[in-house]
Amino acid sequence: MRGETALVTGGGRGIGRAIAQALAREGARVVVVARSRNEIEAVAAETGGRAVPCDVTDAAAVEAMARAVSPVGILVNNAGIAESAPFLKTTDEMWARLFRVNVESAFRVTRAFLPAMLERGRGKIVNVGSIASRRGYPYIAAYCASKHALLGLTRALAAEVGPKGINVNCVCPGYVETPMTERNVANMVAKTGKSEAEIRAVLAGKSPAGRIFRPEEVAEIVLRLASDAWAGVNGQAINLDGGETQS
Ligand code: NAD
Repeated sequence: MRGETALVTGGGRGIGRAIAQALAREGARVVVVARSRNEIEAVAAETGGRAVPCDVTDAAAVEAMARAVSPVGILVNNAGIAESAPFLKTTDEMWARLFRVNVESAFRVTRAFLPAMLERGRGKIVNVGSIASRRGYPYIAAYCASKHALLGLTRALAAEVGPKGINVNCVCPGYVETPMTERNVANMVAKTGKSEAEIRAVLAGKSPAGRIFRPEEVAEIVLRLASDAWAGVNGQAINLDGGETQS
């Protein structure tokens, strides 16, 4: 990956930050994209990379970012949000918000960077899905549907551009120790009255591994999917769930 440019959306914290750090360690020139300028500037400083503030749901901003940054050899669509609600309390706004950030942004960012990949005849696209791309869970219908859609996008695009030298894959983690999970835990504490330790035990117990995963473990999978050594892997969903989902 030495000298290759790698763009990570949502790279300012959590999983995206770990991915940016791992790619930089492998020699990639990292472009860290998110809305929070202070967070992405900190990660850019850590990785010797470049911070590019952009709201990935803003079509014009994405186009402008692509003009400023393209070409990239590795694109990681990681930006995402999670919200929960019983199905009957899932509003149109919440549904649209989750689809905008979790699927449409990956579609638009990919569409903006793909032409240069096609021109070069090579490229790696890794989408950060979720174990909720693979199976259903209660109270997160909008999140599950958006992450299933992201996997559908991954598979369709892989079939289309695989023959042109471009790999498109999806990594699907269970619970990972990030600010997103901290917020989820805090919400569950507030809703259930259980202690933080009890909630964390519930989340850890969802996986046969009996633990919450580390962002660095997601980053390791992304590194493999972005490597030429794994060029034969295309249109796949790789689970990081300790065996919770066996397909
Ligand atoms: P996080 O909230 O800690 O970080 C999310 C990042 O995305 C932040 O940098 C944020 O600024 C960025 N982002 C959000 N909306 C954006 C927008 N409109 N424009 C630009 N950037 C935006 O979350 P995380 O836990 O690190 O999650 C990263 C990805 O991993 C998400 O797609 C999430 O769905 C997925 N995921 C997380 C977990 C988990 O347990 N944490 C599990 C499975 C999948």
